[in-house]
Amino acid sequence: MTKYIGAHISSLGGIDKTIHRAFKIKATGMSFFLKNQLRWKSPDLDEQTIINFKNERIKYKYTPQQILPHSSYLINLGHPNLENLEKSRICFIDELKRCKQLGLIYLNFHPGSHLRKISINECLKRISESINIGLESVTGVTIVIENTSGQGSNLGYKFEHLAFIISNVTNKSRIGVCLDTCHLFSSGYDIRTNESCENTFNLFDKIVGIHYLKGMHLNDSKNVFNSRIDRHHSLGKGNIGKQAFIWIMNNEQFNNMPIILETINPNIWWKEIKWLKSFV
Ligand SMILES: [Zn+2]
Ligand SMILES: [Zn+2]
Repeated sequence: MTKYIGAHISSLGGIDKTIHRAFKIKATGMSFFLKNQLRWKSPDLDEQTIINFKNERIKYKYTPQQILPHSSYLINLGHPNLENLEKSRICFIDELKRCKQLGLIYLNFHPGSHLRKISINECLKRISESINIGLESVTGVTIVIENTSGQGSNLGYKFEHLAFIISNVTNKSRIGVCLDTCHLFSSGYDIRTNESCENTFNLFDKIVGIHYLKGMHLNDSKNVFNSRIDRHHSLGKGNIGKQAFIWIMNNEQFNNMPIILETINPNIWWKEIKWLKSFV
C-alpha cells in the first residue's frame, strides 16, 4: 500500500494512546493534536509518554512519513498585533519541539488571519517570517501549510497565498502544503468531477508546485461550492460527492503522504478508510 490513509485521532489520555487507536481502525496514516488545541500552555511531554509513543509507533509499524500532527487553532502566525504574534510564534516553536521529541517530521498548521488590521500581503509576509523563525529554531521538522476555506479573515484560501508564503521562506527544503478537500471546495476550487479535479490540481502545480504537496485532508463539505465556510461532512454525504475521493485514490500524485480524514463521524472512519482503500 503506497497510500497512507487514516484519520485525525483523539489524543485523549495522552498522545501515546493515538497509535493504537489508529491501528484499530486499520488506518495507515494519522494525525492528532500535539497538545490541548484550545490552550496556550500545556505541560511538557513527559519522558515516559515519549518512550511509549515511539514504542507504539514501531510496534504497529507506522513510519514518520505516515504521521501529520496538527497544530493548535489558537496560533496565528500572521497576527497584526506584535505581542500576540510573539505569543503565537512561541507556541508554534513549542509544537515543533514536541514533533522532534516524538521523532516526527511534519507539522501541519493553518496560515493565519489579518483580522482586518493589516493588508493581506503584510499578513502573508509575517507568516513566512514566522515559518523562518520556526525552521531556524527546530531542525528536522518540515512545516506544512494547510489551505483554508477563507472564512472570516483567514488567509491561505488561494493557491497564490500559499505560493507567496513559500516564496518568502528561506529554507524551501522544509516547507510543504497539505490540501484539505473541503477547504478547496468551499474556497472556490471545484473537485466534483474527474475533469475539475484535474484542473484544480494542475492549477495547484502551476501556481505552487505539486512537489510541495506533503499531505491531504479528505473531507466532504456541508456547505455549497465557494461558500467560504468551513463545515466538514462525511465522504459522499456533502456537496462534493464521492468522485473526488475516488479520483484521489486512483492518482499516484498522492502516494507516500498522509491522507487524513477529518470527517464528522469518527464511528464510521473505519468504513470510510476501507472504502477509500478499495479504490487503490
Ligand atoms: Zn486543519
Ligand atoms: Zn483540514
